[in-house]
Amino acid sequence: MAGTKEQAHETSSNGAATEEHGVAVHNPATGEVIATVPDLGADDIARLAAQGRAAQPGWEAMGFDGRARVMRRAQKWLLDNSERVIDTIMSETGKTWEDAGVLELSYGASAFGFWAKHAEKYLRDHKVRSGSLFVFGKKLKVRYRPLGLIGVIGPWNYPLVNSFGDCIPALAAGNAVILKPSELTPLTSILLAEGLAECGIPEHVFQVATGTGDAGRALVDEVDMIMFTGSTETGRKVAEQAAKRLIPASLELGGKDPMIVLADADLERAANSAVFWSMQNAGQTCISVERVYVEAPVYDEFVDKVVGKVKALRQGDPSGGPGSVDVGTLTSPPQQDIIERHVKDATDKGARVLVGGHAGNGASAWEPTVLVDVDHDMACMTEETFGPTLPIMKVADADEALRLANDSPYGLSGSVFTRDINKGEDVARRVEAGAVCVNDVVINYSALELPFGGWKASGLGSRHGANGIRKYCAQQSILISRFHGKRDPQMFPYKAKMSRNLVRLYRFLWGRGNRG
Ligand code: NDP
Repeated sequence: MAGTKEQAHETSSNGAATEEHGVAVHNPATGEVIATVPDLGADDIARLAAQGRAAQPGWEAMGFDGRARVMRRAQKWLLDNSERVIDTIMSETGKTWEDAGVLELSYGASAFGFWAKHAEKYLRDHKVRSGSLFVFGKKLKVRYRPLGLIGVIGPWNYPLVNSFGDCIPALAAGNAVILKPSELTPLTSILLAEGLAECGIPEHVFQVATGTGDAGRALVDEVDMIMFTGSTETGRKVAEQAAKRLIPASLELGGKDPMIVLADADLERAANSAVFWSMQNAGQTCISVERVYVEAPVYDEFVDKVVGKVKALRQGDPSGGPGSVDVGTLTSPPQQDIIERHVKDATDKGARVLVGGHAGNGASAWEPTVLVDVDHDMACMTEETFGPTLPIMKVADADEALRLANDSPYGLSGSVFTRDINKGEDVARRVEAGAVCVNDVVINYSALELPFGGWKASGLGSRHGANGIRKYCAQQSILISRFHGKRDPQMFPYKAKMSRNLVRLYRFLWGRGNRG
């Protein structure tokens, strides 16, 4: 839909749904319907795409400075409207005030500033020097041109970070963007579209396409590039569809991120990190700690610390505001079935639940759960759980930890805890994942200069850093011949003497490499 205000009006002041044919949005903490948004079909998406394409050249023509002005206004708008943004995120996700306010808001605000400042640096023309004989004396450069219309498909776990966040660099590069948020969490995207409109983004440059997976499918058929975040299963479908159209696709998919705790680690920090990064956002973070491997000598002490900290967590309806609960509800109700299956499968196979293990407080929720005596025959150690669970496994040494950490189809991120930072880096380099922290977890994601992207079934491409904006552009190489004769030596007509001389020259220049 082009105008977000119409959508906002579809939510009545008492929060009840007012539209009969649309997608109902629920507050997962209470189960109440809080809004209904249009369920767009392929024709609607085609109309949005035409509008976006018509608006894009004007946006591109505003240049980096013009676009950066809108981004900086949007940064301020986000902070001026922080309560509204936090309330909206909380209402459709069931996450805590802190998970919405501290994590989502900080990412959005810093991303607007970052891309306003760095877009031009990453995208301006740059000269290239070449060792090729054939281009001697010629001017070589690379330039980046926005692809045109970008589709962003987002998941429900971070409506601001994961859905809207990817739109910011796409817009900063000069593209028009259509965002298809998860049907579970469209309200944050609609609110942010309203904010961008207030900040002066030209009409139709940023549009939100609400609807179900069908709207996502239709979007892939319309755009020049697709940025997808979500499950590996859907990511494969998106990649196949994009491949048929030969459009680029960047995919950030599932993860089963391991934490490795070595015997010399600061156990208090390791335990705090394991508990926080497995339980925050109710474990619904693609780079959360999904499994822990602890060297035998410190296993018992580590488990005791973790159990104490998890027992102290308060899980429940977060509507009490800041500080009221530590762990909120699950955003997607079917997630509860996945978590239950993983816990049951583990206990059926001999694992022990030391804390939690049951459905939690709320319409869709799970108690913070610690599992031990786990192994790789159990789904909780091999499949993405995406919930507030922490399975901990004892290992003999770092080699065994690495073998198990890498025994996964996924490779999104990981972490290593040790006081020996050289050893930590050595172990980190052997983890098969796109991002690994030593004595930290997840916070690499806040460094927007640092590329982030998954290996193996965790994705294709990356976000952040230079590629985080260049991927939204067509790269063009320019060669300019300033000084040249009428004819180059390799051109027709072929003459034996010239051809032999050229080969002699190659021998002189490149033939030495094999002598030694
Ligand atoms: P999906 O991958 O199904 O959904 C992600 C997005 O893709 C949503 O906007 C969805 O729309 C849309 N979509 C669905 N089908 C298609 C399609 N064929 N073509 C284009 N877009 C489509 O994730 P789920 O919500 O089903 O979650 C499933 C699992 O994925 C979770 O259990 C979790 O393990 C993992 N996950 C990983 C995330 C991550 O950050 N890496 C985030 C969320 C989930 P709609 O929601 O309207 O169906």
